[in-house]
Amino acid sequence: MNILVINAGSSSLKYQLLDPETGKLLAKGLCERIGIDGRLNHQVPGADKRVFDIPMPTHAEAIQSVIDALLSPEYGVISSVHEIDAVGHRVVHGAESFADSALITDEMLSVVEACNPLAPLHNPANIIGINACTAVLGKNVPQVAVFDTAFHQTMPPVAYLYALPYEFYEKDKVRRYGFHGTSHRYVSQRAAAMLGRPLEELKLITCHLGNGSSIAAVKYGKSVDTSMGFTPLAGVPMGTRCGDIDAGILEYLMNKYGYNIDEMLDILNKKSGVLGISQLSSDFRDLDTGIEQGNEKAALAKNVFMYSVKKYIGAYAAAMGGVDAVVFTAGVGENGPDLRETITDGLEFLGIKLDKEKNNCRGQEIDVSAADATVHTLVIPTNEELMIAMDTAAVVEGLKK
Ligand code: ADP
Repeated sequence: MNILVINAGSSSLKYQLLDPETGKLLAKGLCERIGIDGRLNHQVPGADKRVFDIPMPTHAEAIQSVIDALLSPEYGVISSVHEIDAVGHRVVHGAESFADSALITDEMLSVVEACNPLAPLHNPANIIGINACTAVLGKNVPQVAVFDTAFHQTMPPVAYLYALPYEFYEKDKVRRYGFHGTSHRYVSQRAAAMLGRPLEELKLITCHLGNGSSIAAVKYGKSVDTSMGFTPLAGVPMGTRCGDIDAGILEYLMNKYGYNIDEMLDILNKKSGVLGISQLSSDFRDLDTGIEQGNEKAALAKNVFMYSVKKYIGAYAAAMGGVDAVVFTAGVGENGPDLRETITDGLEFLGIKLDKEKNNCRGQEIDVSAADATVHTLVIPTNEELMIAMDTAAVVEGLKK
């Protein structure tokens, strides 16, 4: 079975063609500058990356260029469009309407559209990607939406309610939703496989640490709490996002500097986080270079980030009444041995202890805990595309039953 996985943004579109049963990647790529001019980056594993300038006035031309590349006799991987069994779309927000991945229909799309105000930058672009696929592939190829928020729909009210007047939840749906759910779910499943135990028996803390970062408490296979909130601005500090801050700071700075709300949000979303503190970069590799050169603000930014992650680990161990494994994933979590060591340092009282030699690794699936640790520390490269492909296959298989 071949699943085309699409992650559509406002001017870009990432794709992968995958076999969800074997996990085999057939091809992947990126359409950029949609609506501007258009460029396709296409790559088949083991072959050189190809770059083509192709006019892409809309997402439909972008999808068509993806299909053409996949079918190309020279650098393609399939010989007929019928070899694409289904399309899986990453959709950011499913609000309280979607606790699982779902088959895309006209009625269902109107429910997704109703979630747009909660993710105004992402959901409309995801829907454009879906409509572009329908325009190019027709309605006979099933399409499935996989939501970033769905996995966290199992959170109990104590975890998702903000202490605001209740009508804001009831009328306006203001609550914690959480994001990165596809990644947290994928690494949770992998963690259970690595530990050789059923997911339904495990208490996991999954740390997705990348440009955007979030931590989740996954108890017996269900998300029971997560650090991102109503928007992906909450939780630990990120590359450029501030994470949790006192809401009173907004009023103070807006009054003092005359910022309007858009200017304030721009600061919180794009100029804060480790970039804001370090005044150097949002990228942890740049921070590390800065630290090597004695840049104290770079060190401070990384320390603030690591301290915040450590606090969430403590909080979620408390929330779940224990923890069996802590999982590190995404760019920073998979590739930062020193960062994993610092975050877990001092957590021996919980049973968390690293084997420093094993931990000296990057981007591989490995248990890095010390022999006498009672809690496992796992490094698991995330694979959201594979999870989307697996979900898509499961939904499509379900249709046949
Ligand atoms: P996104 O949230 O955009 O998916 P990623 O998961 O790709 O982000 O993570 C990007 C972050 O991971 C960057 O800060 C980058 O510095 C860091 N990163 C990626 N590779 C490495 C590496 N080899 N060593 C250290 N940090 C890395």
